[in-house]
Amino acid sequence: MPLDYPARSNRLLRRCLPWLVAAVPLLVAWPVLQWQANEALHAQARLSATETVMQIEQMLDGVARAAQQVLLLAGMPCTEAQLPLREEVTRGPFVRSVNLAYDGKLYCSSLFGRFSEPVNDYDYTDGRLWLMPGNLVTPDHPLLVYREAVGPRTALAAVDGEHLQAALRLTGFDHAQVLEVGSHWLDAQGQIYSTPAPDFAEAAVTVRSGHYPLAVHAGFAGGSIGARARTSYLHLLGLLVVLGGLAGLVCAWFLDRLHAPRRELQRALDAEEFEAFFQPVVNGSHLRWVGAEVLMRWRHPRAGLVPPQRFIPLAERSGLIVPMTRLIMRQAARQLAGAARPDAPLHIGFNITVKHCEEPGLVEDCQAFLDAFPQGAVKLVLELTERELIQPVPKTQRLFADLRALGVLIAIDDFGTGHSSLGYLQAFKVDILKIDQSFVTVIGDAASSGHILDSIIELSGKLGLQIIAEGVETAEQRDYLVAREVDFLQGYLFGKPITAGAFIEGLCGKDRVPEVGR
Ligand code: C2E
Ligand code: CA
Ligand code: CA
Repeated sequence: MPLDYPARSNRLLRRCLPWLVAAVPLLVAWPVLQWQANEALHAQARLSATETVMQIEQMLDGVARAAQQVLLLAGMPCTEAQLPLREEVTRGPFVRSVNLAYDGKLYCSSLFGRFSEPVNDYDYTDGRLWLMPGNLVTPDHPLLVYREAVGPRTALAAVDGEHLQAALRLTGFDHAQVLEVGSHWLDAQGQIYSTPAPDFAEAAVTVRSGHYPLAVHAGFAGGSIGARARTSYLHLLGLLVVLGGLAGLVCAWFLDRLHAPRRELQRALDAEEFEAFFQPVVNGSHLRWVGAEVLMRWRHPRAGLVPPQRFIPLAERSGLIVPMTRLIMRQAARQLAGAARPDAPLHIGFNITVKHCEEPGLVEDCQAFLDAFPQGAVKLVLELTERELIQPVPKTQRLFADLRALGVLIAIDDFGTGHSSLGYLQAFKVDILKIDQSFVTVIGDAASSGHILDSIIELSGKLGLQIIAEGVETAEQRDYLVAREVDFLQGYLFGKPITAGAFIEGLCGKDRVPEVGR
């Protein structure tokens, strides 16, 4: 069948949803990958900082041993002590110089021999280590000096900053490390700073030595986590993009299928495949055709003639019912124009939805229909189903007043199945009640609700409303209704919905009263 899926979808949602679905794998996976990359960078920074601390500890173990070896020489004349000092420098691979001090005065150095300079204990963190920017021989060359002191004796041994820089550089090739001793820190370029140690933007780690008062800070520059996630998981990201794309395409295809029925309806409207069929309405007193209810059919190119139950609900939901109704009003006007006579006005009824009443243009549509006929040749009836009643607000009351001014009659369709009250009938000054066929079908049944039908007929008489009884199929039903002076009858007994040609033929035939089996 032409319409297989009911659909109500929002255009914006249809456009955005496939992109959203395509992005879901990446959106879900990206934070996880970033978290993993962050963990990996932290582990790397911790490992390299630990390694660097161990290397520096090893260097300091060497200079500490040298300092301890010469400590007892402190106080001895420098001419005697200088040679053992130099021996310690050559013995220790990282020992750059060894010096002796006594009573707070540095007096003998492995580099200069006799020497005189005060030693300030406060320069040394925990009295043991001093990270200094340079000495007299190499003023811009950093040194890490180790101090060993007992009583008035002090031995000082220094590690060359080159070794420290090498340790900071070697382990941290794609991230930075600095060595912090007390209030000074050294970077891998050999620069010493007296500011607080730097805060690394990402994966910042600090590892402190368990043996010496020093710490190594390691970390990465901003954006490293994202870059690591992209480079490490490139293939996975590619796969996620492909999967997301596929999911987006499937979603777009699915939405397109969901929306296909509306497009099919629009196509049929553009191709004017909707057709007006006419079901005769007879006068209750002489039972001759006096008009018709216009019922829509879809002449589908492949599926053939499609009944309204298959497409009207979707047409109503999608709003296409309004242009579709307009189309069959124009069609019916064209087809009937030659058949209507002012001396025998035709009652032509159209089914109108609430949506049509709410949109502008209904009055113009009715005017255009009436203009197609000579003055007084048709009575236009708008059938509004009782199941979907329009609200009596000022705007709609104005609309109904305008319609009435054109001479249009208002009928309540399927009357008895809904909830219209007396107040409602009066608010809109309804002209006709179309009794639902469920009340007609049961005529003659022993357990029938005939009294409801009788009450409706009685009520309409009191309110001055005309009545059309729908779904009259048997002579018994017809006789019952005729006996109660129902104004108009409609049903298979008098004629099924037929094409315009067949309807006009029936109207213009010599015997305009069809076979009713009386
Ligand atoms: P409705 O307005 O109540 O139309 C009467 C329906 O009852 C028609 O069905 C008609 O063929 C059927 N009918 C008439 N006499 C008899 C009878 O003696 N026995 C039986 N069993 N049925 C009878 P149809 O043409 O299939 O239309 C069904 C519904 O589709 C209509 O109910 C109406 O609600 C809707 N519809 C049809 N055309 C249009 C239209 O142009 N616009 C709108 N909005 N709705 C339409
Ligand atoms: Ca109707
Ligand atoms: Ca009806």
